[in-house]
Amino acid sequence: MQAGVIAVQGDVAEHAAAVRNAAAAHDEPVDVVEIREAGLVPDCNVLLVPGGESTTISRLLHREGIAAEIRDHVAADKPVLATCAGLIVCARDAKDDRVDPLGLVDISVDRNAFGRQKDSFEAGLSVNGLVDPFHAVFIRAPLIDDIGPDVETLATVDGRPVAVRDGPVLATAFHPELTDDPRIHDLAFFPKREVVA
Ligand code: GLN
Repeated sequence: MQAGVIAVQGDVAEHAAAVRNAAAAHDEPVDVVEIREAGLVPDCNVLLVPGGESTTISRLLHREGIAAEIRDHVAADKPVLATCAGLIVCARDAKDDRVDPLGLVDISVDRNAFGRQKDSFEAGLSVNGLVDPFHAVFIRAPLIDDIGPDVETLATVDGRPVAVRDGPVLATAFHPELTDDPRIHDLAFFPKREVVA
């Protein structure tokens, strides 16, 4: 399997480690490629869009010609895991002129809205498809304030969706790459083969 980590900005190394862990749990050989330029995405089976700063990630994805390649990847029904800023970048609407979202997940988001309420927090989440709770780390997290009819909510906090799936894209408002638990990466890339942590 070739896994591409979008590496224009954000917590790239953490995602690279997490996808290696998830693949190892399935004895799946994985090559991790860091993506900073066009031409690499077409060879990837799965993609990761990390947390970081969504305005920067969005600008660089478009400038480097990577944005169109991510759209083609999703149109080909290949998996993507997008976390926090990655979720914002993949949304339909980010309500911020500095973000030109890819429209891959039919949600609207309010950047940093959870952050305004409670800057950073951690929560034990019940996640559809996982047997045991997932310890989720939220850092200036986006609030999903509108969700399309075909989007599946996988987890909520205070009744708000914080993990969603739209076709091949799994997006989280939290950072599964910052904990040792590979189960969200599993759900994104090996959905029929969950490892019980
Ligand atoms: N709030 C940040 C943004 O809008 C995302 C924060 C994060 O990825 N931890 O880009």
